[in-house]
Amino acid sequence: MLFAYDLDGTLVDNKAAVELAYRLAGANPPEGFFGKPWHTWLDNDLIHRAKTDIYLTDDAVGNMIRRRWLCKLYDAKPGPILTGASPVSGAFTLYKASLEVKGPIYYGQSREAKLALLQKLGMVGVWFDDDPLMCEMVKRELSGWQAVQV
Ligand SMILES: [Mg+2]
Repeated sequence: MLFAYDLDGTLVDNKAAVELAYRLAGANPPEGFFGKPWHTWLDNDLIHRAKTDIYLTDDAVGNMIRRRWLCKLYDAKPGPILTGASPVSGAFTLYKASLEVKGPIYYGQSREAKLALLQKLGMVGVWFDDDPLMCEMVKRELSGWQAVQV
């Protein structure tokens, strides 16, 4: 059985780091911003780019990134990682969390893209995600898959 994983908030706890990076860039992230595509709540590409620069270069921000307990399962049962993060931000997050990648990683994936990809990757599997809506979508639309919200 295939195990597949979300990254931000699931394998890695980086919510506080992302939130601080946005605040230092001049934004005020609303409740529930984490895990949503930034352009759904922020109408300013310059602030978004400044946040990414801060996330990648500010030690105080980067040092807030932590591994979560689920990394132990990932180490034992590695599988594909599907993330909405860009390749640069995602690779940085993995580096700061000291997560040794043992399977393929798909960056820049929307919820819909993740669903389509999971379907291609396997008939049966378990999806791990901090996003309750994505877990609901997997349960509803992928009959052979289970979703575990973590
Ligand atoms: Mg997530």
